[in-house]
Amino acid sequence: MLPSRSLLPLAACLLATSTLAQQPIPEVKIEPINDHLFMVVGLGGNLALSIGDDATFIVDDQMEPIIPKLRAAIAELTPRPVDFILNTHWHFDHSGGNEAFGAAGALIVAHDNVYARMSTEQVNSLFGSVRKPSPEVALPVITFDHTTTLHLNGDTIVASHLPAAHTDGDVLVHFVESNVYHLGDTFFTASYPFFDIDSGGSIDGLVRAVERVLGMVDEAAVIIPGHGHMTDKAGLQEYRDMLVTIRDRVAKLVAEGADRDAVMAAKPTADFDARWGQSEFMPVERWLPLVFKSLAE
Ligand SMILES: [Zn+2]
Ligand SMILES: [Zn+2]
Repeated sequence: MLPSRSLLPLAACLLATSTLAQQPIPEVKIEPINDHLFMVVGLGGNLALSIGDDATFIVDDQMEPIIPKLRAAIAELTPRPVDFILNTHWHFDHSGGNEAFGAAGALIVAHDNVYARMSTEQVNSLFGSVRKPSPEVALPVITFDHTTTLHLNGDTIVASHLPAAHTDGDVLVHFVESNVYHLGDTFFTASYPFFDIDSGGSIDGLVRAVERVLGMVDEAAVIIPGHGHMTDKAGLQEYRDMLVTIRDRVAKLVAEGADRDAVMAAKPTADFDARWGQSEFMPVERWLPLVFKSLAE
C-alpha cells in the first residue's frame, strides 16, 4: 500500500483547488526503469520520462505547483528541456503542467477528446468540482483518434485510445523496445480506481481497457499506473480480477432489481476492501455507488 500522503494530492486536486493550495509540495522522486526511461512521482499522476539524443519526452506533467521542482529534477538527468508531452487523459493532475511547459515551447500530444474537454468547462458531479477551460497554450497541438506513434530515444512509442474507460480520452502509452507501458488512470495499484462518468468513463470500458493491455504484455513488462507503484503483469492481473469480480457481482444484483441501497447492503466488495478500499480518496462508500451508477443508469 502507498502511504496515505501519496493519495492526498489526487484527492485534494479533485475535491478543490483551494484545498490543494494548503498542501505541502512533495519532493520529486525519480525511479529508473532502464538507461533512458524513468517513472517520476511528485504531485498528481505518475509521469514517465524518456531522455536521449532525440528529445526529452514526458507522459503526463502532473500539476502546476510542482513544475519548478520537476524541471530541476529533469535537469539533473538531461540538459534538454522538455520537448514533447503526451497526456494520458485530460484530468488536471495529469495535464496541469501543460501551461508551463507549453509556454516554454513543448509540443503537446493527446487524444481528440482531451482537446475537446480541456477547451470547455468540465463539471465533476462525484467531487462537486468545476474546471474552467484551459488557456490555449495548455492545449494539445497534435491530437489523434485511434493511435499515434512517436520515434524517440531508441523507442517506438505507440499511444492507443482506450475508449470510455477512466474518461473518453484515455490512451495506453507503450514504449515498445523498452517493454514499458503507462496506463494512465485506467490503472490504480493502491486503491479502488476512480472512473469519471461525467467525462465518458465507465466500469465496462475500464475492464475492456485492462483486458486489452493484459493481452499485450509479457511477464517481463514494466507497467506504470496513473497512481501507485510500478508493477508487472501479475499486478495488473490482480487489479483486473478485482474489477471483473465486483463488476459482475453488482451487475447481477442490478439485473435482479436491486437499487443503490440494496447493492450497498449486499456488500459485494467485502473480500476486496482490506486490499483496495483503504484510501481516503476512494473508500468503498464512494467506489460502490460509482460502479452501481455505471451499470444501472
Ligand atoms: Zn489521476
Ligand atoms: Zn484521471
